Amino acid sequence: KSESTLSIVVVGASGDLASTKIFRTLFALFYEDRLPENFTIFGYARTVMTSEELRNLISRTLTCRIGQREKCNDKIERFLKRCFYRSGQYSSEEHFSELDSKLKEKEVGRLSNRLLYLAIPPNVTVDAVRCDRRRASSENGWTRVIVEKPFGQDLESSREFTIDIKQYLFEDQIFRTDRQGCGLFQFDDYGIICDVMQNHLLQLLALFAMESPVSLDPEDIRDKKVLRSMRPVELEDVGLGQYNSHVDSIAPTFTAATVFVDNSRWDGVPFMLIAGKALQSNSAEIRVQFRHVPGNLYNRKLGTDLDKTVNELVILVLPDEAMYLKINSKVPGLGLRLDQTDLNLLYISRCTPGGIPDAYESKLLDTIEGDRRSFVRGDELDAAYEVFTPLLKELARKKVALELYSCGSSGPAAGVHYLAAKHNVHYRDYL
Ligand code: NAP
Repeated sequence: KSESTLSIVVVGASGDLASTKIFRTLFALFYEDRLPENFTIFGYARTVMTSEELRNLISRTLTCRIGQREKCNDKIERFLKRCFYRSGQYSSEEHFSELDSKLKEKEVGRLSNRLLYLAIPPNVTVDAVRCDRRRASSENGWTRVIVEKPFGQDLESSREFTIDIKQYLFEDQIFRTDRQGCGLFQFDDYGIICDVMQNHLLQLLALFAMESPVSLDPEDIRDKKVLRSMRPVELEDVGLGQYNSHVDSIAPTFTAATVFVDNSRWDGVPFMLIAGKALQSNSAEIRVQFRHVPGNLYNRKLGTDLDKTVNELVILVLPDEAMYLKINSKVPGLGLRLDQTDLNLLYISRCTPGGIPDAYESKLLDTIEGDRRSFVRGDELDAAYEVFTPLLKELARKKVALELYSCGSSGPAAGVHYLAAKHNVHYRDYL
């Protein structure tokens, strides 16, 4: 029998994120037998409620991945029995002390690991970290803390936030998670740049363009991401749009930006990041376009212009994970004719009946197992802000004109086509 325990404390348990996402994900991990044998979940928030009331709240949100809910009622009951609630203020060390006593009752003297999930607004995050560090962190095991974005609004406030929480936590205790809330982005001011480009798209780019790590160790992987080699984005390399029902706002809802990675591998290669809201499809993908070799022999032989069709490696992230290579190849049969064809790997067609786990489940499990490779390190956060903060400041100062587009369309055409042409990128309306 295992000698260690895991206490998971969801701070802000009365909130939207806890009920729509965190408890459901914990249940999904329990359902798959991925949580440790001795675990307890504690909800903590200011709202006064009993453990039974928390269980009712959680119970309403739980679903089974395979089959119907009746078939997993037994698992749900066993999961709910491990859930408890304690109310308290986020800035009260005394209340965290009381929480600590309750956790100890369940840990019964065994090696105790503690995971704190901060699902609270940023203005109370540092208080909660301080109180937890002083009164409710593990005395004999590890303590890890999951922090939700935002981690500041710009380079200065992000650095300040990092300095504040590092008074109480070491870097290897902090798991920064950066997620889109239910497909809705905050589009106030330059939200699409802050919430989507600077975080999600820049991370995809950093992973895509990374150098070979010396091992699969999380720190070796994170050392090889190329964020610090990225050049700050210039205003002339940005196209902004807004869908035309976005009344009384100067906030862009569509942005295209070209980023350059100044290292020997990627020197001169343009990376176009494109993000938009209210477009005709909800998708995320990476397209790698291969340059043509000079003096293409087939052009001469066939009298065609193959340069108009590029060979592309497409990595689909949403809605279904897939990878395919679009190449010009000879059409089978007699004669010489070329056409574009796909070499296609659709992940869902190759995986187990349970399907591909939710990204959120993987992240929670990674935290429990201490695997930090998919989390953003403090220095990466700084580097990401350095790429976009000068641009954000300039945009705010100059109030740059936005190109209008219709809701449900493929986005504004002129700006993005101009950028693509400038950098010799083949752009069709993919979005
Ligand atoms: P929420 O429902 O607004 O807040 C969570 C809990 O925090 C509330 O139930 C409330 O609990 C407490 N709280 C709310 N406002 C407070 C205030 N001004 N001062 C002190 N406590 C307050 O937020 P959420 O949607 O669950 O998200 C939690 C955090 O995750 C957000 O603040 C955001 O930073 C981040 N986030 C969430 C999502 C998402 O999908 N929801 C997406 C991205 C990031 P009590 O009153 O009971 O203490």
